[in-house]
Amino acid sequence: MAADGTGPDLDPTARGVHSAEVRDAYDYVIVGAGMAAAKAVRGIRSQDPDGGIGVFGTEPAPPVYRPDLSKTLWVDPKGSVEGCVMVSGEQGSDTAPDEHTCFHLGTTVAALDPAAHTVTLEDGRTVRYGSLLLATGAEPRVGGLEPGERVVYYRTLADYRRLREIARQGAHVVVVGGGYIGSEVAAALALNGVRVTLVVSSEPLLGALFPAGLAATVTHEYRDRGVEIVVGRLAGGSVDAGGVTVRLGDGTELAADAAVVGIGVRPRTGLAEAAGLTVDDGVVVDDHLRTSAPDVYAAGDIARYPDRLLGPRRVEHAAAAETMGTAAGRNMAGADRAYATTPFFWSDLFDHGYEAVGEVDSRLRMVEDWATDAEGRADHSRGSSTTSTTAAPCAACCCGTCGRRSRPRAS
Ligand SMILES: Cc1cc2nc3c(=O)[nH]c(=O)nc-3n(C[C@H](O)[C@H](O)[C@H](O)COP(=O)(O)OP(=O)(O)OC[C@H]3O[C@@H](n4cnc5c(N)ncnc54)[C@H](O)[C@@H]3O)c2cc1C
Repeated sequence: MAADGTGPDLDPTARGVHSAEVRDAYDYVIVGAGMAAAKAVRGIRSQDPDGGIGVFGTEPAPPVYRPDLSKTLWVDPKGSVEGCVMVSGEQGSDTAPDEHTCFHLGTTVAALDPAAHTVTLEDGRTVRYGSLLLATGAEPRVGGLEPGERVVYYRTLADYRRLREIARQGAHVVVVGGGYIGSEVAAALALNGVRVTLVVSSEPLLGALFPAGLAATVTHEYRDRGVEIVVGRLAGGSVDAGGVTVRLGDGTELAADAAVVGIGVRPRTGLAEAAGLTVDDGVVVDDHLRTSAPDVYAAGDIARYPDRLLGPRRVEHAAAAETMGTAAGRNMAGADRAYATTPFFWSDLFDHGYEAVGEVDSRLRMVEDWATDAEGRADHSRGSSTTSTTAAPCAACCCGTCGRRSRPRAS
């Protein structure tokens, strides 16, 4: 594996995805080479077949479909890193970049000047743009333990590679955080013969999201699968050559081969703030995904957009990144179409999965509709629940019977 985590099977330069030479100007510049960016390239191309596109991304790897990093790559024997890549190097494939599209990977944009229509790269070079997309995603909240070889704040392909190296059969991993990433990574590791200790702030697992019966069923499933659940908060810890020690607030120390920390993310809005764009828990955009600066758009985890049904919000999920990326790309190239999608999201936990739209919050009033067993008792592995706020109704569905491991990608 390369030091940057890309691995020999995914050398972006050899695969034709990385362009070394940065031009002075592009018709379109995309900052961040993640999921929204990959889709934005296609959105632009649907309107403009040969405008110059420069995509700048800090990660050395091409854009990957991140849900695969905590699901397919751990549970599907046919899953491969190649299969997660959203931009292929194969000429002739519909995701191959054309001669007018340049992916500059391992390249961070340090500053944006909307008045001059330029970005400045970290090495000081300046690049002009016609229109620009901010798609810098979200960054993990770091607390208690610094990221390192044995402490993984799980987001990237490099993080997946690192965890794979350590988390062999019989290894012990402490997963801190019982939210979205923590619960998925804990299940993926347990399914691969890894001993897992999952540190959660309270029980039942996912109780902040799910109605009590469903949360209890999920918690039971984790214990049945051998996951040790510990209630506590990350207070600190230490790392040495042999492993990691995670220290909790009550003084408990958990020794393991590695720790995965998933205690939330925050939108990466630094560039936008420094450039004077309107930021309010995300970069504020209108229904065309335009920011407060002329010719600057935003999409994906960083964008706070006016949802047609649910009102202003920021969504940290894959379908939102993909559909917003496509819509922003189209508009950057002159389509002038409002973004009218209300994106769904999903998660897979062992054999169970759920799909949801809107607010999933157990503090809201919930209406539940579950299948029943032969004795007429609710079977919390099959059914749906609807939450209601004064603003808008939203729904979550738990489909333990569908058997699908991953959801279809948004178009
Ligand atoms: C492990 C994992 C599993 C997930 N599973 C699901 C799931 O099952 N269902 C679901 O709905 N969602 C899931 N998500 C969430 C989903 O992947 C994200 O919402 C989506 O990736 C957001 O896309 P984005 O383009 O906004 O940001 P990202 O895909 O995170 O891309 C942003 C990119 O911008 C780069 N960048 C940042 N700043 C700069 C800069 N200044 N210059 C250059 N580059 C920069 C970053 O390095 C990063 O590569 C998952 C996320 C993770 C991490």
